[in-house]
Amino acid sequence: MDARNLGHTQLRHLRHHTLHSAILSHAGHDHIARGDHIFARAEAEQGHDIGMVLNWTASATPYSHGLEGVNQGANYTYSKVILTSFFAILAITAVYRCIQVGNAHIRHLFTMGKWEDQRYWMLNHSHFWPRIKKQLIYAPLFRQRHNREIQLSNAVAIGTLPSRYHTILLVLYLASNAAYTLALSWGRGESFSVVAELRGRSGTLAALNLIPTFLFALRNNPLSPLLGVSYDTFNLLHRYCARVVVLETLIHTLCWASNAIQSGGQAQVRLSLATSTSYCWGMVATCAFSLMFILAIGPLRHAFYEVFLNVHRVLAMLGLAGVWVHLERANLPQLPFIKLCLAFWLAELVWRMFRIAYYNFSRKHGVTKVTVEALPAEACRVTFDLCRPWVWKPGCHVHAYLPAIALWSSHPFSIAWAENRPREPIVEFELQEKPTFPPPPTKAIDSQSKGSSPSFRSNNNREPQGPRRTSTWRTTKSGDPEAQRPQCPNIAIPRDAAVTSVSLVMRARTGMTRKLYDKAAALPSGKFTTWGAIEGPYGGHESMSSYSTVILFAGGVGITHCVGYVRHLMLQHQAGVTSAQKILLVWSVPNTEALEWVRVWMDQILRMEGRRDVLRIQLFVTKPRHRGEVISNTGSVQMFPGRCNPQTIIQKEMQERIGAMGVTVCGPGAFADAVRAAVREEVEIGMIDFVEEAFTY
Ligand SMILES: Cc1cc2nc3c(=O)[nH]c(=O)nc-3n(C[C@H](O)[C@H](O)[C@H](O)COP(=O)(O)OP(=O)(O)OC[C@H]3O[C@@H](n4cnc5c(N)ncnc54)[C@H](O)[C@@H]3O)c2cc1C
Repeated sequence: MDARNLGHTQLRHLRHHTLHSAILSHAGHDHIARGDHIFARAEAEQGHDIGMVLNWTASATPYSHGLEGVNQGANYTYSKVILTSFFAILAITAVYRCIQVGNAHIRHLFTMGKWEDQRYWMLNHSHFWPRIKKQLIYAPLFRQRHNREIQLSNAVAIGTLPSRYHTILLVLYLASNAAYTLALSWGRGESFSVVAELRGRSGTLAALNLIPTFLFALRNNPLSPLLGVSYDTFNLLHRYCARVVVLETLIHTLCWASNAIQSGGQAQVRLSLATSTSYCWGMVATCAFSLMFILAIGPLRHAFYEVFLNVHRVLAMLGLAGVWVHLERANLPQLPFIKLCLAFWLAELVWRMFRIAYYNFSRKHGVTKVTVEALPAEACRVTFDLCRPWVWKPGCHVHAYLPAIALWSSHPFSIAWAENRPREPIVEFELQEKPTFPPPPTKAIDSQSKGSSPSFRSNNNREPQGPRRTSTWRTTKSGDPEAQRPQCPNIAIPRDAAVTSVSLVMRARTGMTRKLYDKAAALPSGKFTTWGAIEGPYGGHESMSSYSTVILFAGGVGITHCVGYVRHLMLQHQAGVTSAQKILLVWSVPNTEALEWVRVWMDQILRMEGRRDVLRIQLFVTKPRHRGEVISNTGSVQMFPGRCNPQTIIQKEMQERIGAMGVTVCGPGAFADAVRAAVREEVEIGMIDFVEEAFTY
C-alpha cells in the first residue's frame, strides 16, 4: 500500500480496517509495529508524524494527535491580535520617545551655551505630562520600593518590583494571553475536542511568544536604541514572556498527554514518545523550557550567575531545536516563528562577534591590551587599550572579557573614563617629539591652579597626608602613571567621541571581579597586564546636555556611571554646546578609601576650565572610620558625614535651579528608590526629568 497517495478520509477507513491489529496491539509491541505502523507511516507521509497508536477506537484518539478539534482559524486570529497589540505598544512608545527627544532637542538648541533667562524651561506648561510622569512613568508599583530587592533573609533576595508602567504592560500582556488561551469553544459536546483546541491554542501562542522572548534577551536588540529603552527593561519583559512560553508549553503538553492517556493509557504516551520524532522533540523542548524556568528563579540565578547564564543558553538552544523538529515533523504552520527566533539569535551573535573582533584584534596592534590596577576599598581600575577607535557616549556600559581570569564569561561595566591615547606607554622622548601633548600634570597642577581650586582631603590611613596640593581631588602620588597621563581630552562633542582607551572600575564581588582584585593586590606593584576585549557600547540613551541644571546621584561604585557624564558636560560647556549651567554631583560612599577609585579622573575634571562656575560636588561619607576623616570644605567640593538625603538636596536645588532639571541616579536599590521618590515629589512643581541606571539585571 502506498501511503503517500492516501487522503484524510481514506486514512480513516484504513484505521477501521486494521482495527484488529490495533486491538492486538495491547498484547505486544510486535503487533503494534505491524498494524499501526501503517498509519504511523501513512500519517507521517502526509506530514503528521504521530507515531504509533494503541487504540484507534477510543473516542479520544482522533483528538490526541494532528489537527482534529484544533481551531486553526481562531489560532491565526489571536496570533494576529497579539502581533497587532505588540506593534501598537511599540508605536505608542516610539511616539512618546519622539516627543521626549524632540522636546529635549528643541530645549537644547534654545538654551545651549547661553547665560540667558531660562525661566520658560523651568516650568511645566501642561498638567498632563507631569502627572503621567509622576503617576505612571517614574512611579514605583506602590509607594517607594522599586529597585530595592525584596529580601527573604540576609542572604536570599527574590528580586525587585516592576515599576507601575511596567506592571500595567505586564498585566495586559499576561491577561491577554490568558484570555486568548481560554477563548475556546466550551460548548462542544466532546471534552476531548475542547482539550484538543486548548492544545492547539496554547501551542500556537507558546511558539509566537518565543519571538519576543528571544528578541528581548538580545544585548543588541534594535528596539533598545530606537525606543531609548534600557536592556534592564527588556530583560524584565524577556523574563515575563519566557514565563508565559513555559506555562503555555506545559498546557500544550498536558493537553496532548491528557487525550493520549484517554486514548490508550500511559502506555500510549510512552509509545508516542518512542515512535514519533515530533512528539519526542516536543517533549525535549518542554523539559528544556521547564528546567530553564526553575534555574532562572532569582536567588538561584544571582547565586550562580555565570553557571546560570551558560546553562540557560544551552537549554535555550536545545529547546529551540526541540520545537523546530516538533513543528517540522508535524508539518505545522508555526515553524516560521521558530525560524525567526533563530535568525534573530544568529544575526545578533554574528554582529557581536564581528564587533568584538573588529575593535579588539588587528594585524597591526594585535589584541586589546588590558592593564589591571588594584585600588583601595577592594576594587580594580581596568583599562582597555583598543586596537581601533571606538565610539563612546556618556552613561553607556560595555561587556568586558578577560579570558585569563574568566575564560568564557563577559560582565557588564559602566565606562568610567574614555579617551584617545597612544597604545604604547608615553616616554620622555615621545613627549618631546610630540609637543601636542601637554606635559605630565603633576607639576602643571600646582602651577596652573595654585589656590584656585578646592580640594578635599581625607585622613586616609594608607597614604600619609602630605602638604596640601591645591586643585587636586586628593593628594596625587608622584610617579602614578595615571596622573602623568596627558590632558588632551578630545571628546568635546559627541560626534568626535572616538576613543582608544576605555577605563572601568570593577568592585570586587565573589566571582571574576574577586579573582581579578586578588591577583592584582597580591603583586608588589599592585598591577598587571593581560589581554581581553570589550563589547559595546550599550545603553547611554539619555543625554543630559539639554538640561540647564543636572544632578547626578551616585552610590558607591555607581560613580562610574556619573563621572563620564560630568566630564562630557564639562567638555561641552567649554565648547559652548551644552545647556548645563549647574551640575551637582552627589556621591555617597562608605568611607574615603573609595574616593581613590576615581581620583585621577576627578583631578582632571577639577582642573577643567570654567569648572568653578558650573560644577559642585557633594560627598557623603556614611561610615567614616575615624573623626577627622571627613573634612568639610566650603568650596565646590563639600564633604559630609552620614547619609545623604536626596529629598532635601532636590528640594533645595529645585528652588535654585536654572531652566529644566535632569536628575540621574546609579547606586544601590534603596538609594535609587529614595532619589526617584524625591523627584516624584517635585515633578509637578517644575520641569524635571529622571533617569535611572541599575547595576543588576
Ligand atoms: C549595566 C551595568 C553596569 C555595571 N557597571 C558596574 C561598574 O561600573 N562597576 C562595578 O563594579 N560593577 C558594575 N556592574 C555590576 C557588575 O557587572 C557585577 O558586579 C559583576 O558582573 C560581578 O561579577 P562577579 O563574577 O564577581 O560576580 P559574582 O560575585 O559571581 O555575582 C555577583 C552578582 O553580579 C551579577 N553578575 C555576575 N556575573 C554577571 C554577568 N556575567 N552579567 C551580569 N551580571 C552578573 C549577578 O547579579 C550576581 O548576583 C554593572 C552591572 C550592570 C548590569
